[in-house]
This record gives sequence, C-alpha cells and structure tokens, in this order.
Amino acid sequence: MQESFFKFKEVSPTEINPRGWLKNWLDMQARGLTGHIEAAGYPFNGPGWETRNLVEGGQDDWWPFEQTAYWLDGAVRCAGLLHNKALLARVKKQFDYVLAHHDEDGYLGPHFMKAAGNNHRWPHAVFFRALMHYYKLTGDAKIPAAAAKHFKSRTSPHIFHREVCNVEAMLAVFGATGNKELLLLAQDTYKNWVKNNPKNDATPKNLLSSRKPFDHGVSFNEFIKLPVLLYLYTGKKEYLKAAQNGYKKLFKDMSIIDGVCLSAEHLDTVKSALDSHETCDISAQTWALGFMFAATGDVKYADFAELALLNALPGAVNTHTFGGLQYFSAPNQIVAANNSNHNLFHRGQKWMSYRPNPGTECCPGEVNRAMPNYVLKQFLKASDGLAALLYGPQIIKTKINAQSVTIEEKTDYPFDSDISFCFKMSRAQEFTFYMRIPCWCKNASLMLNGKACKISLKSGSLAALKRKWTDGDKLVLSLPAEIETHKYSGGVYFKRGPLLYSLKIEEDWKIDKTEKRQSKLLPAYNLYAKSPWNYVIDTKIKPVFTVKKLQKNPWTINSAAGEITVAARKLKNWNIIKAKQAEVGYADWNKRWTVKEKGNFLFTPPLPSRGFIQKNISKETYFIKLVPYGCTHLRLTVLPFK
Ligand SMILES: [Zn+2]
Repeated sequence: MQESFFKFKEVSPTEINPRGWLKNWLDMQARGLTGHIEAAGYPFNGPGWETRNLVEGGQDDWWPFEQTAYWLDGAVRCAGLLHNKALLARVKKQFDYVLAHHDEDGYLGPHFMKAAGNNHRWPHAVFFRALMHYYKLTGDAKIPAAAAKHFKSRTSPHIFHREVCNVEAMLAVFGATGNKELLLLAQDTYKNWVKNNPKNDATPKNLLSSRKPFDHGVSFNEFIKLPVLLYLYTGKKEYLKAAQNGYKKLFKDMSIIDGVCLSAEHLDTVKSALDSHETCDISAQTWALGFMFAATGDVKYADFAELALLNALPGAVNTHTFGGLQYFSAPNQIVAANNSNHNLFHRGQKWMSYRPNPGTECCPGEVNRAMPNYVLKQFLKASDGLAALLYGPQIIKTKINAQSVTIEEKTDYPFDSDISFCFKMSRAQEFTFYMRIPCWCKNASLMLNGKACKISLKSGSLAALKRKWTDGDKLVLSLPAEIETHKYSGGVYFKRGPLLYSLKIEEDWKIDKTEKRQSKLLPAYNLYAKSPWNYVIDTKIKPVFTVKKLQKNPWTINSAAGEITVAARKLKNWNIIKAKQAEVGYADWNKRWTVKEKGNFLFTPPLPSRGFIQKNISKETYFIKLVPYGCTHLRLTVLPFK
C-alpha cells in the first residue's frame, strides 16, 4: 500500500453485512429497479457495456454508456452486499466482456469512444468506479492491471469536460497497484484540464474564490472531489483547501433542507420550498462527501451525507417497491404526475413523477448507488482502529492490527436513538473506536458494559474510546433527538435528529398508461393527494413526538416509525395551480432557452403570503400528523404558519 493522506479508509466490502431495515432496503432494490433496470427502457434494455459497438438508430453516442455504467456501479455494490448470485452474475457478464475485449494497446470499452474529446471518455470514469468495486469484491489482480494498461496507453488526454473524472479511476488504480506512473498521469491530466477549462466553477482557483458556482450540479459534484482525491494521494493541502471552500459555498445558501445542493439542473441560491434537486445529485454529492470526510475527519461532511441519504434519497424514490423515482424532488410537492414538474427545466412534464424513467436516463442509473454507499461507509478504518460513521443495523467482520474482530451494530437508527455495538474477538487487543457525534445531538451519552463512560461526546465531533477491548464488550451510544422548529423561506419546518418531517398526505397512485417505459412489475405512476394538505401551523402550541413500532419497511406513510403531531388551521383558497400554459426551459451543451407551451398543467403552489393567510385562515384547530420526509411521496415539509 502506498503512503497516503487518508485519515479514514473504506473497509473491504466483503466484511460488511447489512441487517434490519438497511438489508430490507437493499433487498427491495434487488427486487425493484436495481434488479430489473430494463423497465426504465433504452439504454437499460440493451447490452450495456457488453458490446463494443452501438446503438439505437445506428448512431454512436457516449451517454448510453454513462447511464448503464451508473446502474452497473449501484448494482455491483448492492449485489455484493446481499451476496445476490443472480445480480452478481448479471454484472459479472458486463465486466468480463470489457476485460476480455481490449485493443492491442490496452484500451478498454467501445471502439468509437477511443477517439479523444467530445466527452467520449466520461462514461469510462463511471465504468471504472464500478469495475474497481468489482475488484474489491473479487480480489482479482488482473482487473487493476487491465485498467492500468488502459490508462498508460494514453490514447486520450482526458481534458474535455467530465472526461477529467478519470483521475478518480487513475488514483484508485494507483492505490491498488502502487504504479507511480498512474499518480503522475492523474496529476498531469488534472493540471491540463484546469489549464484548458479556466472558467469552470470547480478549478482550484475558482473554488477558492468567493464566486458562487452555477455549474450543472452533477458536474460540479463530480469535479469538486478531484482535488480532494489528489490531496489524499499527494498531501498537497492547496487541493484540499479548494474543495473545502467549494463545499462551504454550497452548504451556506445553495443547499436544500434535505441536504442536497439546489440543482434543477444548475446550481443556484435557495429561495423557496419548491426549489428542487436532481436525483443524480444525491448519489454524486454524497459520494464526493465521503472523500471530504476521509481527508479531514470533519463530522459536518458526514452529517450532510446522512441528511441527504436518509431524507432526500427515500424522498425521491417509490419506497413501496424501489420501482420508480423522481428526476427532480422538492421539500414541497403535493402532486407528482406527468404534468406537474414545477421547475423551469422541462416544466409541466413528468420529471417529478415516480416511475422507472421519469425523463432522462441518468437518474434511473444513479439512484441505485446511493444506499449501497451508505452501507459501505458505515464503518471506516483508522490507522489506530475503527470508526462508526453512519449508523444502522450491520455486522462487520474485519481485521484490526491483523486480528479478527466482529462488531454487531444493533439499532433501529435513525428511528431510534440508541446504538449498541457488541464486540467479538478471540484475543483481547488495544485499539481506538471512534463514533460520530452528529452536530444535531447536544446530549449524547455512552455506556460501556453497563457503566457510564466519561469521554468527550461533543456535538459535531468524533468521540474516541481507546482501550483494550475484550470478547463480549458492549458499548451503547445514545444520540437523543429533540424536535427542532426552523423558519425557512416564509414558512416553518420540523426536524428531529437526522430526519425531516413532512405532512402526512394520503396517496392516490394511478398507473400512467401513456408511459412506454414501465413494466407490469414496476409501473409508472401519476400520484395525487386524497387528503387535505392546505394547513397553516399554529406555532404557539408545542409539537409532540410519538414513537411507533418499527416495521420491516419503515419508509412509507403508513409504516412510519414515529410521527410529530402539530396544531394547525385550515387555509381557504390555497389550492393546486391549474394552468393551460407554461414557460418551459430546455438546455443543451451550449445554451439554455425557454418556450411557452400549452397543456393541462398541475403545479404545487408556493407558500402563501402573510396577508393571504390572515384573510383565508379558518378558526377551527386541527391536530395534524407529520411523518419522516423519506416516508412521503407527496409532501409539505415547509408549512405556512400563523
Ligand atoms: Zn440525473
């Protein structure tokens, strides 16, 4: 292993065994879109990477390879965690084909993508991310050797737009093989990209400046992690500082309350509860934040990833089946149909509805990556021990100081505040066990073998317990959560621990028969509200939290493991907007434009003004239920208040 500047490193995926609701989620992925991606239509119903020539209509294009590589990355992670033989066999076929069909010079992948430029090599960056995970599962040294040969042949400069993201793969291959040529190649490639793209928001210079980024959200998150990765392998601090400042700008006022950057599809400053993000950004941003934490050990990066993965992610998918997802999702959305996208980009189209393919193919591919990466990053290795970073039920069987250690993490987190760790080992040994104390938790406590443990458990820190551990040791970490009420863009929202809460709205799921890209197993839906939602919160009456028994799948409105009851009044004349005409935004590589289009549109209304509330508020008080954001598909998260 090379010298590196990782504070924390991933554990081997073969050491991780998800349990409880997390295993159920992954099983649902395998039964849903991850295992049946062909329901999302072209290109997922085609050969994927099992071909060197493409494609539909006889035209070669790189994007089908990008989308299928996203899926491949999520599917290989999910299949590995579940030991799901059928899904593993399906991804293995694609990896084996690519490895078996290389050019003389080592080039891997479709023939037409060998030519430099035009983003031809960006899909490779996504593919190699999946391939290097497959390597971690199999330990087959032929894999990094083949990837090294591909890069060392230097058939592309990798400097056009997202092509530079191959730097991630070059560094991963360097990490696996120790071949210094790849480290030098990664550094040169990045320097040349910066030189050729001086206006890009994610060059180190622009990240360090006060200039706000307005790039495409996914591109920005893919780019910003490259300087962090270069820091991790070179120790050059200026790289790390640039990425830290980039995220500082994003976290300040460009992120939605569910933890993801406003990105519909370009970054912007958050103004309202209707502001949305693309589902791809949930996967791309949390993946990048993993490297930020690995480099710094700073808990805030893990907190943001947790917020996104436990709120934005379940909020953007059909949590009954993992059979559909939104392209855009927002804190407030009270209709999710083929005419309800309230964002400018493709306004009035199906992009906010839950279906196997809600508009464009990137999100149906990327959505498969998010929760497997949560599970894979629950524990991380430190030079002197192990860190529990993201919580949830799991059994990890790993080695610390070359000694086998099994830790069973028993918890219903994030639905319960207690997390217990049971240590099993054949011989006692000394190491440090780190635990993330989230920024939201002000009163953490820790019990070791039934006795209070007096170490620092400061909010927003990594608690460290260094001792000689013996077989049977039991640690119980309590992270009690309080209901927080926050004012936001003219309304109010409620949060408890890592979870946001949204109004429970009864859902009327109707299959959209006009949609071609669906299957009997995974239908496309138009979703409408069938209970009132037009409430104004009475903030003078204290909200109350009630715990409910944890169900196998806790991510639906009727199986929520807890709810907040709040006092509210009804608001007259605050209705869904019905429009016959809309201004619709479009974009391509070079420009953005809008056109006025006719249709029968249904849009979620913005929050009402103070004057409107005073004029239309009713007298009667109701006690309404809020459930975790991730349980809802229609939601009001930011509510008006009186
Ligand atoms: Zn997308």
